[in-house]
Amino acid sequence: MSTERLPILPGATLGILGGGQLGRMFTIAARTMGYRVMVLDPDPASPAGQMADVHLQAPYTDDAALRKLGEACAAVTTEFENVPAASLVALAQTCRVSPGADAVAVVQDRSHEKSWLAQHGFATAPFALVYSEGDLDAALAETGTPALLKVARFGYDGKGQVRVSTREEARAAFRAFDGQPCVLEGFVALDCEVSVVLARDDTGACALFPVAENRHVDGILDVSIVPARVPDALIGRAQTTAQAVADALGYVGVMAVEFFVAGGALLVNEIAPRPHNSGHYTLDACVTDQFEQQVRALCGLPLGDTRLLSPVVMVNILGDRWRDGGPRWGTLLAHPAIKLHLYGKERARPGRKMGHFNVLDADPVAALDLAERMRGAL
Ligand code: AMP
Repeated sequence: MSTERLPILPGATLGILGGGQLGRMFTIAARTMGYRVMVLDPDPASPAGQMADVHLQAPYTDDAALRKLGEACAAVTTEFENVPAASLVALAQTCRVSPGADAVAVVQDRSHEKSWLAQHGFATAPFALVYSEGDLDAALAETGTPALLKVARFGYDGKGQVRVSTREEARAAFRAFDGQPCVLEGFVALDCEVSVVLARDDTGACALFPVAENRHVDGILDVSIVPARVPDALIGRAQTTAQAVADALGYVGVMAVEFFVAGGALLVNEIAPRPHNSGHYTLDACVTDQFEQQVRALCGLPLGDTRLLSPVVMVNILGDRWRDGGPRWGTLLAHPAIKLHLYGKERARPGRKMGHFNVLDADPVAALDLAERMRGAL
């Protein structure tokens, strides 16, 4: 009999590639459940490294560090999509790895991701792949204008994307990206944006978290509202589509699917092969949060109950707020139903995610109202 599916139980050591805030919250969840955690991240001040039993301070491609991780850990996961696929393949020789290198390889490059979505029949914004300046005219004809030129790799939180309205702007943007492979995407008039975080285990069973309604500012998530204020039919379609994406990827672990809602239709924007910022509300508002779920999926335990216990609004805290003397924590913490999460980052920079807070209230309108007031008052 294969030992592959025997659950990994508390006391074992789990590993994570990447030590940012997502790795930190995974580490906290795993240690709460009694696992030991080893974090691989080159940054000596890594937010997850601060919480781990062991912080291996080395590059993600360092052979010796990967060997150490693979030998010490019963299973290894990741917190970001840009992890080198070869590192996952190397680790998979000695321990359980989820998500797998194949799924990560599809989603870590926008051009692969968009092509994969189209091939599998998932609706997206109109797009075209751009490998050279010569591709731009045909691409603009495909998408129309305005459009967004996005670098295929290593873009996140609105970085590596520029809005273009003319062929001259498109050329200038492509040159500014040093001619890297890009995706040109038609600009969609959005009704709103929603996302689904889910977990899928190695038998194909899925547990879906409630759909979040997301507001972005400058391409960065600002606020998530749960339950999403969209028709029930759309909630159902978002969940069915997200699960179909996970099935088609053969995905094992926690992942998120972000959607545009436009003219009542759902378009897949992005897939994240990891817990997601728009799932941070689960930390305080669900029976199981997305990081415990990541531990469960990784360890081959039954997936946890994803029930929503209270309406909730999540607000991101960016580094911009450290101007003018820093955030007024006292004002925030004066409210008993606000839950603050800070990531232990030493340096605040504009646009850098420093933490978030969740506002819980049985009345969703009151939760949003308090969240908006605290967002302004911080
Ligand atoms: P991304 O990093 O591609 O997910 O983009 C970040 C945010 O920018 C999205 O969540 C949207 O708010 C906005 N955005 C990106 N692409 C488009 C598009 N094609 N049309 C309209 N808004 C977009």
